[in-house]
Amino acid sequence: MNMQASRTLQFLLLIGILFAILLMVQNFTQPRTQITISELEQNIRDGEVEKLTFLKSANEIQGRYRKDSAAARAKKTESFTAITDQDYYNNVIIPLARTADVDFGMQNPSPWASIFSPTVLLLILCIAAPVLILFWMINRQVQNSGSNQAINFGKSRARLAADGKRRITFADVSGVEEAVEELREVVDFLREPRKYEALGAEIPKGVLLVGPPGCGKTHLAKAVAGEANVPFFYISGSDFVEMFVGVGASRVRDLFDQAKRRAPCLVFIDELDAVGRHRGTGIGGTHDEREQTLNQMLVEMDGFEPNSGIIVLAATNRPDVLDPALLRPGRFDRRIVVDSPDLNGRKGILQIYVKNKPLANDVDLEDIAQRTPGFSGADLKNVVNEAALLAARTGASKINGGHFFEAVDRVVAGPERKSRIINEKERLVIAYHELGHAIVGHQLDHSDPVHKISILPRGQALGYTLQFPAEDRFLVSKNQILDRVSVLLGGRAAEELVFGEVTTGASNDLQRSTQMVRDLITKYGMSEALGPIQFGNQHENPFLGRSVMEDRNYSDEIAYKIDEEVKKIVTECYQRAKEVLTRLRGRMDEIAQVLIKKEHLNKDEFDALMRGESLDGGAGPEPSEPGSMAPATTGTVTPQPPAKPTISPAPAG
Ligand code: ADP
Repeated sequence: MNMQASRTLQFLLLIGILFAILLMVQNFTQPRTQITISELEQNIRDGEVEKLTFLKSANEIQGRYRKDSAAARAKKTESFTAITDQDYYNNVIIPLARTADVDFGMQNPSPWASIFSPTVLLLILCIAAPVLILFWMINRQVQNSGSNQAINFGKSRARLAADGKRRITFADVSGVEEAVEELREVVDFLREPRKYEALGAEIPKGVLLVGPPGCGKTHLAKAVAGEANVPFFYISGSDFVEMFVGVGASRVRDLFDQAKRRAPCLVFIDELDAVGRHRGTGIGGTHDEREQTLNQMLVEMDGFEPNSGIIVLAATNRPDVLDPALLRPGRFDRRIVVDSPDLNGRKGILQIYVKNKPLANDVDLEDIAQRTPGFSGADLKNVVNEAALLAARTGASKINGGHFFEAVDRVVAGPERKSRIINEKERLVIAYHELGHAIVGHQLDHSDPVHKISILPRGQALGYTLQFPAEDRFLVSKNQILDRVSVLLGGRAAEELVFGEVTTGASNDLQRSTQMVRDLITKYGMSEALGPIQFGNQHENPFLGRSVMEDRNYSDEIAYKIDEEVKKIVTECYQRAKEVLTRLRGRMDEIAQVLIKKEHLNKDEFDALMRGESLDGGAGPEPSEPGSMAPATTGTVTPQPPAKPTISPAPAG
């Protein structure tokens, strides 16, 4: 039943109930008193009766006394009834009425009279009212859950992109050139299917876009539909998942029915992993709801002809958990990786989003792209938007470079929290803590350059040090990991060195550095003591959301050795950080004074201070000799995703 029909039904029910109430009110508000026929005759003779009607169906006379008559006053009502038959009414009552000048008549039996008797009306009311309330409640619930499909749970929730909106094309996408090239073929097929049919070529039915969130998978799918100018159905895998068994499967059926009617068209299923996980892992045996949905999807994908004009694009960031059946030929057999953009890609994306915005001359998109390694397309869009908002807030007519830099910081670490009051002693601790990170980072050979140090609270952090790699990096070496650990521990080392006492500010640093060292040993096999072996299999628990479980496949003895090795490496890194800071203690004290005053230092300022120059241009004391602290060992390298800027916050607590 569609929305319109259900509305009409509700409206009719409401009218019916109102009508029933009206009739009942009329019936009950006019109480009739029952009198005997001889009493009636007497009343007529006394001239107290005004009107008489004989109801054939009930063999009953209904009548009304004159206003203010003695009988009406005595009975406390003007309406009365008296039981008699038709003969008596015709032969006795009517002649009597004629002589007393009473209005009289007869009413034929009406079929409605019995239907609308008060008892029946009450019955209707009792049934109809709850039904109406139920309808209303279901309707409300379905509307609240964001669908306009009334009570029809089995209908697909696919949204058809509005035709009137501006079409997205490949010109709106940047940084994912390889994916665009692959998808051009799909566009071509949707535009000219005959060209392929003539050659007997089968275009893939399903294409899987794989990549981290925010890198433009949905955007690309929209661009394909936009380029080919075909309808675009969008649905998220989680839209299929519902409490009731069979609903997901029914929604899949409905989605493909709709798509077949609109072919050629493009169906985009976001978060395919929500329905497409390995079967057999569900709670409650092999026939849980998700499996039925997945089976239905497989059936549908097999069900339409290869060249029927429907192409299904799906997105996931977990291709490893997908059911292998989904990846077989004829289904999602083509995979396209949509990864984080590189330097040029980031610049391209920034260019797309600044297109219609007024920019000041000092904005250098190349520089911003350089400061944002690891940012996804969505992050960059956010940076541009934040910069525009900041410009608007400060009343500027153009967006300048400062707005962009502040926007990058905001996206990385959250907005500044100027209202947080921090006392002098704590500011000093935070300043030395952050400088500890920065100076160790500056001195170690394999560490990323320091781009910013701040002691202004931002987001959760009380202060932060931003480090970006000089270029995009896809492999991380052992020395780089060790240097990162030393940089993270630099904050704690500085506190210990300067104040002789440590604070809770380093807890996040400790957590991250310990995890890094543990991964170095167990995941990347980089420890000399334990060798190039991976210990433990980590996998996501399908029942516990994102929590990671580890299958321990090593002995207690190895576990002990791992713990010992973690401790040894972390301690070495900490010592290294402390050595650097002890050697540069004087310089650290000088810079700390500047940092306390200025609250933040950018890369050039920090580099100048480290060279011993003062910020107003004059030369400072003799620079200290920067020592190379890199460990002598050459580590093996291991793949890692490109790193986001390292931010070493001193969290509250
Ligand atoms: P995903 O589906 O991969 O999670 P989206 O496609 O939803 O990511 O990306 C979110 C937004 O970020 C998009 O609406 C788009 O505006 C922007 N975006 C992401 N990647 C790109 C890109 N490569 N080029 C242009 N815009 C992008």
